[in-house]
Amino acid sequence: MNRRPIIAGNWKMNTTLSAATALVTDLAQSLKGQTPSAEVVVCPPFPFLMACKTAATQSGIKIGAQDVHYEKNGAFTGDISAEMLTSIQCDYVIIGHSERRQYHHESNESLNKKIKAALTANLHVIFCIGESDAQRSAGETFSVLITQLTQALSGIESLISATTFSVAYEPIWAIGTGKVATKEQAQDAHQVIRQTLAKLLSKDAAETIRILYGGSVKADNAKDLLSQPDIDGALVGGASLTVAQFLPIIESI
Ligand code: PEP
Repeated sequence: MNRRPIIAGNWKMNTTLSAATALVTDLAQSLKGQTPSAEVVVCPPFPFLMACKTAATQSGIKIGAQDVHYEKNGAFTGDISAEMLTSIQCDYVIIGHSERRQYHHESNESLNKKIKAALTANLHVIFCIGESDAQRSAGETFSVLITQLTQALSGIESLISATTFSVAYEPIWAIGTGKVATKEQAQDAHQVIRQTLAKLLSKDAAETIRILYGGSVKADNAKDLLSQPDIDGALVGGASLTVAQFLPIIESI
């Protein structure tokens, strides 16, 4: 199955307006004249989305948000709706990142509502799932992934397709720690995720939906991970903050 890989950079709470636009401008300049085999996405903090969108014009680089609220509008101080994101031509949104689950107590039930709101507004969702160190040690990795996916997609299966939805497998113990999953650990998890998508959706959907790996991806481990049959790209945190580190990951496809 020919799935076009996605390389997405999650900038988290980093950069300033000038640093954010410079990063996109430099990345666009470095990719000029190339047709990367991967779809390239950057996810800046909310205040810089529009400026980054403008800086990315004609470069093919897509822009994503790092979160979205599930309501359309209303008294939700500090929150951002899916419609706000599409009104500034934002293309993607990360939902369910483990840092949001941990620090903002996001549950599979609330993530289900966020995915529904984002898909209804035509955003492409990158939905993050992954086990903790303790869950892996207890042999619970696959059951955790199956539960996260099943609960988050419950009742909205008909909205999900490869053009609007991707999964990011991000073992929590590998995020920002420098500890990367081995290619075998990652491939095994991705295979279980694909089998689960086949059960929840359809075989066709499962074969076409991109499943990204995230967790300390760097230029020197990207090739190995991305060569696995069920790994269709990467969600990159720290190494997406400089062109020098992000570009080789894109080029490793
Ligand atoms: C992430 O934040 O999604 C991530 C994978 O971070 P890092 O690459 O820094 O581990």
